Amino acid sequence: MQKFIDSYDFAGKKAIVRVDFNVPLNEQFEITDDTRIRAAIPTLKKVLAGGGSLIIMSHLGRPKGVDAKFSLKHIIGRVSELLGVPVQFAEDCQKAKAQADALKPGEVLLLENLRFYAEEEGKPRGLKEDATDEEKKAAKAAVKESQKEFVKTLASYADCYINDAFGTAHRAHASTALIADYFPEDKMFGYLMEGEIKAIDNVLKNAKHPFTAIIGGSKVSSKLAVLENMLDKVDNLIIGGGMSYTFIKAQGGKIGNSLHEDDLMPNALEILAKAKEKGVKVWLSFQTVIADAFSADANVDTVDAMNIPDGWEGVDTGAESLKQWKDVILGSKTILWNGPVGVFEIDKFANGTLEIARDLAEATEKGAYTLVGGGDSVAAVTRMGFAKKVSYVSTGGGAMLEALEGKELPGIAAIRK
Ligand code: AMP
Repeated sequence: MQKFIDSYDFAGKKAIVRVDFNVPLNEQFEITDDTRIRAAIPTLKKVLAGGGSLIIMSHLGRPKGVDAKFSLKHIIGRVSELLGVPVQFAEDCQKAKAQADALKPGEVLLLENLRFYAEEEGKPRGLKEDATDEEKKAAKAAVKESQKEFVKTLASYADCYINDAFGTAHRAHASTALIADYFPEDKMFGYLMEGEIKAIDNVLKNAKHPFTAIIGGSKVSSKLAVLENMLDKVDNLIIGGGMSYTFIKAQGGKIGNSLHEDDLMPNALEILAKAKEKGVKVWLSFQTVIADAFSADANVDTVDAMNIPDGWEGVDTGAESLKQWKDVILGSKTILWNGPVGVFEIDKFANGTLEIARDLAEATEKGAYTLVGGGDSVAAVTRMGFAKKVSYVSTGGGAMLEALEGKELPGIAAIRK
């Protein structure tokens, strides 16, 4: 049965906590952005304050085996600084039993990168390129078998399990899901996970209406499942960014060199038809900022979105469309934003995305619930300085996207079941 971190008695207990310390490092192995470490600190401090000890586990990067480049020892100093206590290190996450057993209340042990072992992800490594299907199947079965021992060893270190790694909640890995079975009465979410789950529920289960979803980004293909799931939830669907040109072309528009996926035009039309059937109002941009090259020194113009001249491509949402979207956003009580509505990485084409961030901040101030999650919209609000002016900014790109698709995330299901 699921327990809750706020009411759990950690006194004298050892807690094994899965965090997402997959932080970016520079060439000197210095942390360039410690957001992910800071995000897990409240949970870690809660265990220590309650008289427990900590065994912290995480992955870092995508190592193919033991690789010093991806060692979590690079982050010991920062974790220690943020926690305010020394952090011990286990050089091998599978040989840490003695160190774990010796932990006293208030002490902290960080395990080496879980992905040094193929068993963490449960995927075979080092398969020959010409491996037959049989060989692949056998290798997969072998790693799944040895994964059981791997999980059991990790579980043997602790009395309770906390998952606070939302960024990997969509993966059914050893440390994110399988380990929970060893703690049927002592498993719980950390504060970060609780926050993310509440945010997801606020839009998918308990949304106040009118509910508007703004879905942008580059490709329809990567957002198709989100769009489909949203049709059952929202009153308004704003579709922006590169993916909108597939919708425009599918409706007979001229899109010049704009990004598009011809094979998804039928899906785009189907989404529009379903929206109509369900009474969902779709707001596609009717005015587009175009450029004659995908670069900061391109020539720029603003045109009717259905009539982009040859040699030009749509790079941002036009001011007239933004004005219309603003009314929709400010008239909503719940707003979900996933994906930029223009090529925001280039300042000249960032206006639409900036405007959406501003609109969300204003709507939040007026009492709407606003969630920014999945994809580059998170980077956009953060870069533009609006992260604190919306209700919630998700920390997990892929995990949030899958949640918005309506999928049950293995990391969440493992705790709840
Ligand atoms: P996603 O990861 O799917 O949310 O897509 C984000 C990317 O979409 C960003 O890198 C944006 O630059 C890109 N994008 C947004 N609008 C456009 C556009 N009109 N043309 C090309 N790329 C775009």
